[in-house]
Amino acid sequence: MSVEGAASIARGLAPNGAAEAIHIENLHKKFGELHVLKGVSLSARDGDVVAIIGGSGSGKSTLLRCINCLENPTSGLIRVNGEEIRLKQDGHGHSVPADRRQIERIRSRLGMVFQSFNLWSHMTLLENVIEVPVHVLGIRRDEAIATAEKLLARVGLAEKRDVYPAFLSGGQQQRAAIARALAIQPRVMLFDEPTSALDPELVGEVLKVIGDLAREGRTMILVTHEMKFAREVASHVIYLYNGQVEEEGPPEQIFGAPKSERLKQFIRNIG
Ligand code: ADP
Ligand code: MG
Repeated sequence: MSVEGAASIARGLAPNGAAEAIHIENLHKKFGELHVLKGVSLSARDGDVVAIIGGSGSGKSTLLRCINCLENPTSGLIRVNGEEIRLKQDGHGHSVPADRRQIERIRSRLGMVFQSFNLWSHMTLLENVIEVPVHVLGIRRDEAIATAEKLLARVGLAEKRDVYPAFLSGGQQQRAAIARALAIQPRVMLFDEPTSALDPELVGEVLKVIGDLAREGRTMILVTHEMKFAREVASHVIYLYNGQVEEEGPPEQIFGAPKSERLKQFIRNIG
């Protein structure tokens, strides 16, 4: 290793100078007898776009849910924003958070966008976007509104700020969900198949927003079935098979010259 490399690591930076945003090592997750994640490791530095691909049931959502503490890993290490998630064993031998406040802190660093849009239906778009900043993060209402207006404009929904989600298309709702996730100024965005619940003609407008974020250097972990899109925006692709990383690498390798037979077949079937 070079002297600069060693010095970078000593400062908590990756050798290319970008700091680590997420780091996962040997992650296992069991649901009772079902062993869903079997030793997954991954890292994302600031500016990385990590795409996770894999068949249904391979553990993609479980992996994302472990990162933002919606599931507690059975074993392994997760570091978010330099902070290791601390777990303890409860009386039944299950992993549970050791410190609830840490979980809140970690979640405040992550913007999560799910497959189903999950907007609060009794709130307008503006209210959806300012809710967490005002009521959880303690940001002044007028400031939160100014930020929300900018974010809604950015996802092309400036005119819809006072509209309720039910009056919007799925694509508009998902774009609003992205604005809402951005409003907490997360270090990392997590996307779990953000377009798979959309009618085909609405997929493009949502991918456009996510692609713009990626091109601006926003750090993200993106679970997707949109292979062409993953190839375009990802800096690193991870193919999960049955709870393990079967193959990973730059998009040119994964899509252009895959080595694993399972990955080759997966790409043939989905493409
Ligand atoms: P993917 O997102 O790749 O389709 P998931 O992570 O959702 O896969 O699921 C992986 C496996 O874990 C599946 O077999 C699923 O049924 C199971 N699973 C996911 N969540 C739970 C849960 N809360 N309880 C029990 N089994 C679960
Ligand atoms: Mg899933």
